Amino acid sequence: MIKVSELTKRYARTTAVDHISFEVEKGQIVGFLGPNGAGKTTTMRMLTCFLPPTSGAASVAGFDVLEQPMEVKRRIGYLPETPPLYHEMRATEYLQFVGKLKGLSGPDLKQRVDTACERCAITDVRDKLLGKLSKGYRQRVGLAQAILHNPDVLILDEPTAGLDPKQINETRDLIKSLAGDHTIILSTHILPEVEQTCKQVIIISKGKLVATDSVSNLRARGRGAESVLVEVGSRDGALDAIAVRERLEKVSGVSSVTFREKRQNGSAFEVENRKGALARGELARAVVQAGWDLNELRPASVSLEEIFLQLTQEQSAASGEEPKAKEAAQ
Ligand code: ADP
Repeated sequence: MIKVSELTKRYARTTAVDHISFEVEKGQIVGFLGPNGAGKTTTMRMLTCFLPPTSGAASVAGFDVLEQPMEVKRRIGYLPETPPLYHEMRATEYLQFVGKLKGLSGPDLKQRVDTACERCAITDVRDKLLGKLSKGYRQRVGLAQAILHNPDVLILDEPTAGLDPKQINETRDLIKSLAGDHTIILSTHILPEVEQTCKQVIIISKGKLVATDSVSNLRARGRGAESVLVEVGSRDGALDAIAVRERLEKVSGVSSVTFREKRQNGSAFEVENRKGALARGELARAVVQAGWDLNELRPASVSLEEIFLQLTQEQSAASGEEPKAKEAAQ
């Protein structure tokens, strides 16, 4: 649905986007990640035909952004970080106004406005002034204008920025419900958002592509040998962490045991297994037979945040600059 090939944008002195290539398949939600200044907005502007590339190519539904911009715009709905809403308009008036700009009219326009209001759950506020709506509702009106002409592709820039936790959940659910019918690129620097909403991720840093993969593959990439996290407790609260470590090291297949942290009800250890020798059952037995409590036993996951920092810092190091990834991952 979206094809980007060697796409490059140079401003006077800055190469904001530097030969990036990726593809997004129909119906997917893809997280577009990168530290501030990575080139996300510039890429989105090129995809939405607001900005011509310096070189390279991009196409949406088979239409080239330079050669067939009208066809591309017809197939894209864009939600900028701050939706351009006119506060003195009522929600439906605004959507009708946007619909007309998008070439809709008559019964078709009315029906599209009704459908968008329904899908974005704003039917109950459709006759209210936009200036009187909460930020969460305004964001949904912004989404409604993006899906109004039923575009194949939605490009959403930080769609949950500034919302409260309940609104964030509602907006995420709404976005998820829009996938399938729409292909979605979701730009964000909130990593849990990507983990909850997207299966695929594109990560850029300093204008360069550093990863394009599924969230699960990225996690697997960050994890070397197979490892599990074990939390061991004892009823009297006096746990000998060294004894636990020594006992776990004796379990067959275990190559190393590392103390991770002291917790309220016990201590957590990361246990690495030699590949192909996963010994979870034996680990559990070893803990219980020693008279301890087994509070938790699960695959040790590497957070997307750690992987993100690792990848963007590698890129910064390669370009000889100080890493700035941390600020984006917070
Ligand atoms: P992001 O959206 O990931 O924060 P941007 O695409 O906004 O990144 O910016 C990428 C780089 O391009 C930054 O270094 C930024 O300063 C630069 N840049 C963006 N827009 C312009 C512009 N109009 N003129 C010059 N430089 C720009």
